[in-house]
Amino acid sequence: MTGNAQQYLLAIDQGTTSTRAIAFDAAGHTLAVAQREHDQVFPEPGWVQQDARQIWHNTCTVVGEVVEAMSGRPPAAIGITNQRETTLVWNPETGEPLHDAIVWQDTRSQPLVDRIIDRIGVDGLREITGLPVHPYFSATKLLWLFQHVRGLREAAEAGHALFGTMDTWVLWNLTGGAHGESTVHATDVTNASRTLLFDALDLDWSDDALAGFDVPRRMLPEVHPSSHVFGSVDAAAAGLPPALDGVPIAGILGDQQAAAFGQTATRPGDAKNTYGTGSFLLVNTGDEPVIDSAAGLLTTIAYQLDGQAPSYALEGSIAVTGSLVQWLRDNLDFFDDAADIEALAKEVDDNGGVVIVPAFSGLFAPYWRPDARGVIVGLTRYVTKAHIARAALEAIAHQSADVVEASGREISELRVDGGASTNDLLMQMQADLLGVPVQRLTTFETTALGAAYAAGLAVGMWHDLDELRELTELGRRFEPQPDEEIRTRMRAQWADALPRSYGLA
Ligand code: ADP
Repeated sequence: MTGNAQQYLLAIDQGTTSTRAIAFDAAGHTLAVAQREHDQVFPEPGWVQQDARQIWHNTCTVVGEVVEAMSGRPPAAIGITNQRETTLVWNPETGEPLHDAIVWQDTRSQPLVDRIIDRIGVDGLREITGLPVHPYFSATKLLWLFQHVRGLREAAEAGHALFGTMDTWVLWNLTGGAHGESTVHATDVTNASRTLLFDALDLDWSDDALAGFDVPRRMLPEVHPSSHVFGSVDAAAAGLPPALDGVPIAGILGDQQAAAFGQTATRPGDAKNTYGTGSFLLVNTGDEPVIDSAAGLLTTIAYQLDGQAPSYALEGSIAVTGSLVQWLRDNLDFFDDAADIEALAKEVDDNGGVVIVPAFSGLFAPYWRPDARGVIVGLTRYVTKAHIARAALEAIAHQSADVVEASGREISELRVDGGASTNDLLMQMQADLLGVPVQRLTTFETTALGAAYAAGLAVGMWHDLDELRELTELGRRFEPQPDEEIRTRMRAQWADALPRSYGLA
């Protein structure tokens, strides 16, 4: 491997279903990858837990495999990206979790959330945190833990219990954990901004939010910029190869912010959309947080470089996009492979009057309609599978266009990644419905790349965002077709179908 003599960066991508380690060279190219899945635990309907020890064990395994693939040479720095909001408490003396991690999808805190909303309203913390009160965010999961883990509050007050999201857990263990001499308990601003405890303007834990949730400040991690030297690997204490000893951990970003950073969608008006099971769309709003609860979007920190002001974003999550394609494949037997939807949808020139609103579990951003359920409207005897396949792809594109419109920002292009972004027809529809170009990159590893970029900037491998922008290898670009009439008609058709899904739950 020619890269052997060169410096490289190691990204740890601690995701919802698996943990990956990826080595990147100074050009941002992938050199080696290792991956391990972890168990999903579903003790009750709506509950999702993970064993944090298994995740740390998998992290050690994949890091070890990648370092071995790099001939045992240590990376110049490590960056971490992670599933966001997933909440863990652990004992710093033993390093043992006090409960399974409660995963972001978990809705067990809903009854607690309802009570808080009765008291302060759904937007009671919006001005401070940028977020609505919702089970999605860490604080409500922590509140549930306080009520169900015996002695947790006393332990937290006495310094015997720490809180962290998965970045913090991985960082704490990398830097030595219970046996380290300079173990670091910290997180970055992007992860902190998903807890419902963080003041997004002051960049510190909010006393009001801490008082509201009765969270002792002592259990919270320190918060640093995303690109920053957080600490260094204590190889012996962490149980990692000795070659890694002293390697700085120099970047942390939550997964969606990391994808935007890896796409270098970092300037005001830059936007990225990740098309996976669901979709996550971020629109960068620059150095001012935009807080507009009526828009139905979350205000979040996009990234922060050391010594600089943070950059903010509006974020919309869409529950069902790629999973609509899965549903056509698995429940309706339309095709064998998700990618086959493209050829099927191309058999026809339009949707034949069909519109699908895939509100399988209600609608997320920007509508927030838990009472919605899926509908297919406009069926006639003329309609074929191909029309329905086309309508499914259009539904993915319409929902994304609605998030961009809700952001109130003029975007100049949409950068895309994720499994369904390989679908050319979908990307063309997206460009047409948005009226702006859609830009793919040549790499699909944008999330891990974002963490590597943040780490590389902090240790001087790169100097600024312009340098990263030059590294970005653009893939295919989809220009919007200039037929405004069709666009207006299709958007009106969608707007008409959407409310027909309301009130069905
Ligand atoms: P996740 O990270 O959420 O698991 P991925 O980024 O791996 O998701 O994307 C997988 C999703 O993308 C699946 O829901 C699948 O149905 C959808 N998908 C994959 N390939 C295509 C394609 N060519 N066209 C449309 N959807 C696709």
